[in-house]
Amino acid sequence: MQSFQSQMFTKTLVTYMKCFRCGREYPASANAYVCPICGAGNNSTDPGILDIHYDYEALRFVLKQTGKWMLVRQDMFRYLSLLPVEKPGSVLPVGGTPLLLVPRLAAHLGLQALYLKDETQNPTHCLKDRATAIATTMALAQGKRDIYCASAGNAAISLAGFCTYTKQNCHVFVPYGASSVQLAWLYHYGADVFVSSGNYDDAFNEAEEAGVKYGWYSRNCALNPYLVEGKKTVAFEIATQLNWKIPDIVVSPVGDGCTLGGVGKGFRELKEIGQTNSLPLLLGVQAEAIQPAVHRYNQHPLLHNHSGDSSTLASSIAVRRPRNILRLLSELEKCGGWMLSVSDEDMIVAQRMLTEEAGVEAELTSAATLAGLLKLSKRESLQGKTVVLIITAGKRDSIP
Ligand SMILES: *Cc1c(COP(=O)(O)O)cnc(C)c1O
Ligand SMILES: [Zn+2]
Repeated sequence: MQSFQSQMFTKTLVTYMKCFRCGREYPASANAYVCPICGAGNNSTDPGILDIHYDYEALRFVLKQTGKWMLVRQDMFRYLSLLPVEKPGSVLPVGGTPLLLVPRLAAHLGLQALYLKDETQNPTHCLKDRATAIATTMALAQGKRDIYCASAGNAAISLAGFCTYTKQNCHVFVPYGASSVQLAWLYHYGADVFVSSGNYDDAFNEAEEAGVKYGWYSRNCALNPYLVEGKKTVAFEIATQLNWKIPDIVVSPVGDGCTLGGVGKGFRELKEIGQTNSLPLLLGVQAEAIQPAVHRYNQHPLLHNHSGDSSTLASSIAVRRPRNILRLLSELEKCGGWMLSVSDEDMIVAQRMLTEEAGVEAELTSAATLAGLLKLSKRESLQGKTVVLIITAGKRDSIP
């Protein structure tokens, strides 16, 4: 097994890529974004997002023989054998965030245990850093100095922060009306900021146009299939921290669907390699005002994309056309679970509870997790359950 351990540093275990739309399989390529047949989709069709597969059989064997498949380090690269990079990047250290037991909140809901996965402790205070770590690592490996993304806030701030460390050039496309606090963070980190005259979905299209034109590396999680691989490490960490005892339910806010889709994939892979023997139920939460993923889950065919101009204070999930919806629906089917929506008022109440009863300063979007769990508790018995809420980002109310 010596050879396997050293091999892990020189070669990835990626085997092939598979399209979520048509199911076609392709040889792994570091530059493939979407399925060449299905394309990037449009307003009425989903993009042909690719999913990365690994040699799970080899890992299962290694785990059985040696009990060891993880590296000895604190950050997310300890799970290198299930990541698409050859070696850990020289990037800001991400992950190893606390899994906080919160008994006061658990008592409200009659739970056996409630945990907060506190992603506010990452370098730029959000879970997005996990995807950014993969993007900057892969861009560096390809010798690309320029990286771009479209973002309502956190992904752009994350990329900007990481690029200061690696001295890469960061180009961000933000929607009209991005808050002055978000813009201040971007300028603070020295990003090249393009403010769209439209919403997030317009900024997304503008970013893609520029990215293709200039040959920049894409940090758009909803297209670049490698980025979800970073996000799934949050599931690996939760399982590790619970000593491989899988929680009953894991809750995340849903925008494009990459985060919760990644979480589902992470737990599935642990089972696939024989590290664990069950899967959690996934609960995805959206804002009442913009809930296309909830409608898709409930199979309302006319409501697949959100065309109205209603708005929500939960700006990080105000996505009218969820681009990774096929991944999310596929994971919901495999792991089981629910999608539901909550009002902005519910999120405000939940945000206050997180501060006052757990001491965690969550972004409003992240408080959707607790609001969603409170809502679920009215129709499902949660008595005796163990639940993890993913606190995806911290509050940014001051200008750096
Ligand atoms: C991006 C984001 C989400 C949603 O992630 P998706 O991958 O778009 O579904 C949730 N919470 C916060 C704070 C985010 O920034
Ligand atoms: Zn396809």
